[in-house]
Amino acid sequence: MKYALVDGHRHEAAVGLRGVCQACGLPMTPRCGQQRVHHWAHRTANCDKWWERETAWHRDWKNEFPQECQEIRIEGPGGDVHIADVQTPNRTVLEFQHSHLPGDERRSREAFYGPMAWIVDGMRKGSDVITFRSFLSADIPDYGAARGWRLPLRRFPLIDHWISATHPVYLDFGNTNFVGWGLPPMPLLWRISKAPSFRIVVTPFSKQNVIDHFMQGDPLEGFNPLPKPPIRAMDYRAID
Ligand SMILES: [Zn+2]
Repeated sequence: MKYALVDGHRHEAAVGLRGVCQACGLPMTPRCGQQRVHHWAHRTANCDKWWERETAWHRDWKNEFPQECQEIRIEGPGGDVHIADVQTPNRTVLEFQHSHLPGDERRSREAFYGPMAWIVDGMRKGSDVITFRSFLSADIPDYGAARGWRLPLRRFPLIDHWISATHPVYLDFGNTNFVGWGLPPMPLLWRISKAPSFRIVVTPFSKQNVIDHFMQGDPLEGFNPLPKPPIRAMDYRAID
């Protein structure tokens, strides 16, 4: 974890400090080596069974938000305690998910946190971004309020797994360039959403727009929509 309590205050890991876990109160040890991001570790197993080994990707994401929004202790009505990666001022939880998350655990977390969204690391497996780009290359536009694409019905595990989430899911493909699809060279997040007839639509937003949306309530803007074809039959929404 990034934070532990030192003399009752949240503190980042540093050599020589002694801290306790803000969830369970047990002692934590600062780990400040060369290989991983500096963090606090329980002396035994992590008390939060949902906790994921923290990567630089996680840490970079947390650092996009004010310190007081990062690693927030949340106690459920049954007394369960979990540490949310981020909780925004309006109490929406953001979870940054790098590794595969079994469906039952995803549902448990969604039920526990209530209003939330998932940011999923699309770069964990290099093949996912290659598949994703090849699907965009099929160039099946979505004529929604913002630029988007419909994915072919033949999909891949990353999308198939996350489309059943009940809260918004944004895929993060890092610095992957999508200029060839008429998108600006800036960090993007791709929201996946269900469309009619078992189809899935992916809609890109600037990363900063998504952050401002959750922190300040800014509207999600997306990019200028693709022009609608003159013949309605070409719009897949009319086809069933
Ligand atoms: Zn703990």
